[in-house]
Amino acid sequence: MMHTELTSTPDRQRFVYIETMGCQMNVYDSERMGEVLSSEQYAPTDDRSTADLIIINTCSVRDKSEHKMVSMLGKLRPLKEHNPELVLAVSGCVAQQEGEKLLKRVPHLDLVVGPDQIADLPVMVRNAREQRSRATATRFIHKNDYEFIEAQAPADGRVTSFVTVMKGCNKFCSFCIVPSTRGREVSKPSDKVVSEVQMLVDSGIREVTLLGQNVNSYGLDKRGRKGVGGELDFSGLIDRIAAIDGLERIRFTTSHPMDCSDRLIDAFGRQPKLMPWFHLPIQSGSERVLRMMRRRTIVEDYVDRIERLRKARPDIAMSTDIIVGFPGESRADFEQTLELLRRVRYSSIYAFIYSPRPGTAAARIEDDIPLAEKKERLYAVQQLQNAVTAKWLQSFDGAELDVLFEGPSRLHSRGQKSNSIVARAVGGPPQLMGRTPHNVKVNVETTDFYALRDWPGQIAKVRIDHVGNHSLNGSLVAFR
Ligand code: SF4
Repeated sequence: MMHTELTSTPDRQRFVYIETMGCQMNVYDSERMGEVLSSEQYAPTDDRSTADLIIINTCSVRDKSEHKMVSMLGKLRPLKEHNPELVLAVSGCVAQQEGEKLLKRVPHLDLVVGPDQIADLPVMVRNAREQRSRATATRFIHKNDYEFIEAQAPADGRVTSFVTVMKGCNKFCSFCIVPSTRGREVSKPSDKVVSEVQMLVDSGIREVTLLGQNVNSYGLDKRGRKGVGGELDFSGLIDRIAAIDGLERIRFTTSHPMDCSDRLIDAFGRQPKLMPWFHLPIQSGSERVLRMMRRRTIVEDYVDRIERLRKARPDIAMSTDIIVGFPGESRADFEQTLELLRRVRYSSIYAFIYSPRPGTAAARIEDDIPLAEKKERLYAVQQLQNAVTAKWLQSFDGAELDVLFEGPSRLHSRGQKSNSIVARAVGGPPQLMGRTPHNVKVNVETTDFYALRDWPGQIAKVRIDHVGNHSLNGSLVAFR
């Protein structure tokens, strides 16, 4: 039950520490939580020991992050005992799934807040702080009433940003908990998406990544599959965003193959701001396993779409998700996954061992593959993909690529404030990190004293001098 009573005005600066687990949607939600909490005078901090409010923004797609949440809650207990004023909250997918049960299980937890209730967070936090009230808010808001929280201009000097364009999922893949934790699909009105991107561009953003559980079905909740009604489809949305002056690059994630339309494929051929990088999850190369996963995907149709994407944009970098050890996955099924990886030659993949998620259809099927066998399959997938990725990265050796600089490279900025010009004095010659159109990180060292100040947000030709396992090193040729 949620309390909504406001009792007094905030009296002093407070600090919030947000631990974000899981996907980019959670990163975006954490940013919105930080923004709405500024009305209660909470400023972000990286130091949880001095925080007045700690939020764990959770993910329940895999059991690993759920275990991480449980362990973190355990570690926070002494902090809460030492400082009873501290407000402790769990948000995100585990909050949605567990609700009230989580409050009962964890006596030192104050708030459980589902993804649809972020707007209520300031009131809940205030009541927890002033009345010591514990509360749960996990109600889904009907799609007709759902309002996306307006993003604020970032003040941290970043040049890339996520933009949520829709929430929820209607697909119900048998292994996935997302439709239960994020609800049904709701698209953000295109006018709102465009004004958010315009606001971001005005504040220095040069690249946006459009987010949703399945962005390819953008607008379907308003239009229906026949395209009747007042909303754009996803390719139309990309075209509108691309018309914004000052925006250099558009990416998106994530997608379901079923909704990868011809119009979207064409967009890769005609829209230069749409970067040649496409994450299109397949999960398995076996039709039999895909049916058990309820993926509604035919492998040959999927491969055909990729071939058409490569015709539209020959250099497009494809990536995917693979689950190994799904219940009933035979050796022959698994071999088909390996075969698919050899055929498609992804630039990268995210491969996972299947683990049943409570509340999903697959959790009712016997998890019959021994863990040792699952690990062996994961290893085989990773070995194969590592070789493909290495060859693909090697193809950039000596090439001149367009790189959008984002800020100091991680090595260089360790322990220092991002974009700080002081970094040069502390860490030797500046080393900046940028990304190629294919989303590969490139580190560039320079003797330009002002590079950390001047380069972020600019696109330059960079010659690749060294190819690493996951990133590249290069030297500046010229700014565009
Ligand atoms: S498409 Fe499937 S895997 Fe992706 S979020 Fe929806 S249900 Fe989950």
